[in-house]
Amino acid sequence: MPIVNRIAAFHDDMVAWRRDLHAHPETAFEEVRTADFVAAKLEGWGIEVHRGLAQTGVVGLLRGRGESQRAIGLRADMDALHIQELNDFGHRSQVEGKMHACGHDGHTTMLLGAARYLAETRNFDGTVALIFQPAEENEGGGRVMVEEGLFEQFPVEQVFGLHNMPGRAVGEIAMRQGPAMAAFDIFETSITGHGAHAAMPHRGIDPVLVAAHIVTALQSIASRLIDPLHPVVVTVTQVHAGDTWNVIPEQAVLRGTARSFSREVRDRVEAEIARIASTVAEAFGAKAETRYERRYPAVVNTRDATALAAQVAAEVVGGDNVETDAPPLMGSEDFAYMLEAKPGCYIWLGNGTEGGPGGCMVHNPHYDFNDEAAVVGASYWARLVETALPLAG
Ligand SMILES: [Zn+2]
Ligand SMILES: [Zn+2]
Repeated sequence: MPIVNRIAAFHDDMVAWRRDLHAHPETAFEEVRTADFVAAKLEGWGIEVHRGLAQTGVVGLLRGRGESQRAIGLRADMDALHIQELNDFGHRSQVEGKMHACGHDGHTTMLLGAARYLAETRNFDGTVALIFQPAEENEGGGRVMVEEGLFEQFPVEQVFGLHNMPGRAVGEIAMRQGPAMAAFDIFETSITGHGAHAAMPHRGIDPVLVAAHIVTALQSIASRLIDPLHPVVVTVTQVHAGDTWNVIPEQAVLRGTARSFSREVRDRVEAEIARIASTVAEAFGAKAETRYERRYPAVVNTRDATALAAQVAAEVVGGDNVETDAPPLMGSEDFAYMLEAKPGCYIWLGNGTEGGPGGCMVHNPHYDFNDEAAVVGASYWARLVETALPLAG
């Protein structure tokens, strides 16, 4: 069976919702209009609505036919980005400096499309939690929902997510079992030397020289300390020191980010950055202190949920259009917090090939979600529910 015909029949409605959301982008924890929009639609279809988790989060609870106590969760993100849109089509952002440049308008629309179909048909036995989360970009709205009791309030067996993927054709779906997107951490190293006249360096301890050596030495984490078969990135993105030409400053500060896929590598990277910084500094008579902060964990897809997602994807778009061992991405995603709490799977949905409609990469001021992908994504959600929670007989 390809896409769900009933969903294709209201494609025009989904396009209208999506463009309305696109024109009215809202950023982290301020998705008030968007949450109202989602809640009104869900209530209109007779779906029980719960609001308030992570401030603007919305959860729709829909029971199928039958007596099953089983439940699964489907998650969409609702937030936009701080980007000035450079598109000039009719549904471009009406909000200065904000834009749906990651396609979360499309994600919200597709989960709404599935909700409408599932509410009409109820061809499943059990409960589906339709999770609309705020603040996926940077602020970890998914983490906040989990911390505020998302899965205690809505105890699902598995949770599923998806993201549109420019560069893949509409009608293609990709996924991988195991680590699929990297953990994302940040660090800051403060180096304290001894200020001096720049013409008398022997009277001081130069933190700029120490910082330069630390930046270089940190490269050995990826190239010499971690198994080359385990992906890792350590990038210094900021170097701050000094105010003028003829003074050796007292202090220097380095900031950067680390990406990894496994707990072991993550632990090691955290320890090595601090160790290298402090021992290199010591070699020069300076001191270095490192603050390391763990942000998003890695997205790790579990075996059974990934097999289910692959089966449903193949049914919707055809087996030839499903890539089940797509390469992992070094980018990060706060759906990882939900996957830490529950088994599940996160897939990538083709948004259009490069150079064509939907081919522009996310976070670019020219990006736009491809409305042609909406029927595919909503059909995947709908069939996932019907397959995971089948009616008896
Ligand atoms: Zn994004
Ligand atoms: Zn995104």
